[in-house]
Amino acid sequence: MPELPEVETLRRELDRAVKNKIIKSVEVRWPKLVKPLSANIFSKKLIGQKIISTDRRAKILLLKLSKGDKKTRDGFLAIHLKMTGQLIFRPKKGRLVIGGHPLPPPPNLPLGQGEGLNSNLPHKHTHIIINFTDGSTLYFNDIRKFGWLKIFDAKSLEKLSAEFGPEALSDQFNLKKFQEILKKYPNQKIKQLLTDQKLIAGIGNIYADESCFCAGIRPTRLVKDIKLSEINKLLLCFKKTLKLAISKGGTSSDTYVKLNGQPGGFVPYLKVYGRQGEKCKKCQGLVEKIRLNGRGTHFCRSCQK
Ligand SMILES: [Zn+2]
Repeated sequence: MPELPEVETLRRELDRAVKNKIIKSVEVRWPKLVKPLSANIFSKKLIGQKIISTDRRAKILLLKLSKGDKKTRDGFLAIHLKMTGQLIFRPKKGRLVIGGHPLPPPPNLPLGQGEGLNSNLPHKHTHIIINFTDGSTLYFNDIRKFGWLKIFDAKSLEKLSAEFGPEALSDQFNLKKFQEILKKYPNQKIKQLLTDQKLIAGIGNIYADESCFCAGIRPTRLVKDIKLSEINKLLLCFKKTLKLAISKGGTSSDTYVKLNGQPGGFVPYLKVYGRQGEKCKKCQGLVEKIRLNGRGTHFCRSCQK
């Protein structure tokens, strides 16, 4: 599943692709993806709306709609890619732009050459098609169909938002806030806490491992055993890691590419994630991999205590 830097990268690319476009028609081929609305109502609510801006909450992409709901006059089209969702934008002229998970995963073509796979759109994994008045089209493809598209007004978006902790990169998320969260879960393992989206929105598996390495903290350490100076370092580390990852377009895995179909550029910067059995870039020891709450967890025994 993509993490914050990947979804943020996708948002920026989506912003360039669909901002100011007006929705002409919507085809829902798999109605379950737009629940609780019916396919018909979902389409009706979108037709004629202009995309005025893009935003993101945790891993949910938000397209702000010009007219919004009839009553409340505000609205967002929210998109969650989940495990295998993919967005493809086809401009009226020129090449396709692809973001999310390449099809089929794992790709049998090198990353960045996914265009061939998707040149015959729509195909059997295309579930939603949004046509814009300028002749361009946005396709939502999803092999496993866990992804979803929903229409929210500001109030329902707020409700959804309340299910997540503060955004990891927001200014509101500071040392004081981080300490407050940590204090509530003294017996939790630090990595488990970092990746709990209800507590902090935006740190997934890759960036939790990288941040713990950066701070010199073993991912299995209990929260109560971590000193204040280490907490401060960890906070600086995950902010720095997420920002760098966004600036590099995120980390590609076999299940994620950017909207332009190119792999993310953060892979060379990974210190421990996916490097099990390889030499630690800091001490030349070996990077280890264990399972922690079902997730692959990477660390260096000598650099992280
Ligand atoms: Zn090391």
